Amino acid sequence: MHITATLINLFHFCKREMWLHAHGIRMEHTSDAVSEGKLIHETVYPQRSERFREIELDGCKIDFYDPKEKVVHEIKKSDKAEAAHLAQVKYYLWLLEQNGVEGPTAILEYPKLRRTQRVVLTEEDRQLIPQWREAIEQLLASDTCPSRLPISQCRSCSYFDFCWSEEQA
Ligand code: SF4
Repeated sequence: MHITATLINLFHFCKREMWLHAHGIRMEHTSDAVSEGKLIHETVYPQRSERFREIELDGCKIDFYDPKEKVVHEIKKSDKAEAAHLAQVKYYLWLLEQNGVEGPTAILEYPKLRRTQRVVLTEEDRQLIPQWREAIEQLLASDTCPSRLPISQCRSCSYFDFCWSEEQA
C-alpha cells in the first residue's frame, strides 16, 4: 500500500477522516488539505514556482521541491492542524532520505499569518515515521471506521454532516 502524505497528514489530525478518505468516501466540496496548499502557493507566489519541481517518490507527490537547495516548500492556509502539517512535511523529508537525498530540509509557510517554520528531520522522527506507517496500515486494514473527534474540532471538516448529522437532527 502506498502511504501518501495526505494519509500521514490526516492520521495526525483525525484518524476517522483518514479512514474515510482512504476508503474512497468523499463528500461534495471535499477540500483536499494537500492540494489546497498547492493552490495557495501558485496564487501567492507565482513567481517562485520557477525554482521548484514537482517530484514523485514511492507514489507520493511533493508539489514544490527545490532540487538545488534540497528544500521542500509547503504552504498552508491556517495553522489549525499544525501538528499534521509538520508530520506531512517530515514525511516528505523522510522519503527524500530513503531515496538517497542527504540532508533535505523544508520550509512550512503560513502566508496569511506571516509565519514560516524551518523543518528538519530528527533521529526521533526517523524512528517514529515507520511506526506511523505501520499504524496507518493497521487502521486501514480494519473494517471499522475510527471514532469521531470532539465536535469542537470538526466544524470545518467536509465530513461534518456525515459524522454528526444524527446529533444535529
Ligand atoms: S467531522 Fe470530525 S470526526 Fe468526522 S472526519 Fe471530520 S474531523 Fe473527523
